[in-house]
Amino acid sequence: MSEYISRDAIHTKIEKEVERYFDDPAPADGYYLVEDVLSEIENFTAADVAPVVHEHWIKVQFADSKALINDGNLCLTDGFLCGSCGHSVYEKSPYCPRCGAKMDVETP
Ligand SMILES: [Zn+2]
Repeated sequence: MSEYISRDAIHTKIEKEVERYFDDPAPADGYYLVEDVLSEIENFTAADVAPVVHEHWIKVQFADSKALINDGNLCLTDGFLCGSCGHSVYEKSPYCPRCGAKMDVETP
């Protein structure tokens, strides 16, 4: 499985390491190598990825086709709504099946 990193984050990390390692003005050889690496990172083709949406399930009760009439009383069915898109499900899952939100946020 591929892993992705932030171009800005790695650029900032390398620059901090360079500042820590080299004197100012920087010595020639090593610094130019770092400049080449930073240039490669800047020009490398970006992967086609989407940001992860972190959300939670909202507990609700449904009165839909799964609701039962019992002695004249409407029985509601427990369910959950996606905190991102509002999609309804009867059982929680690690990701919303509609929008793909990752359900790892504690319920507020
Ligand atoms: Zn969703």
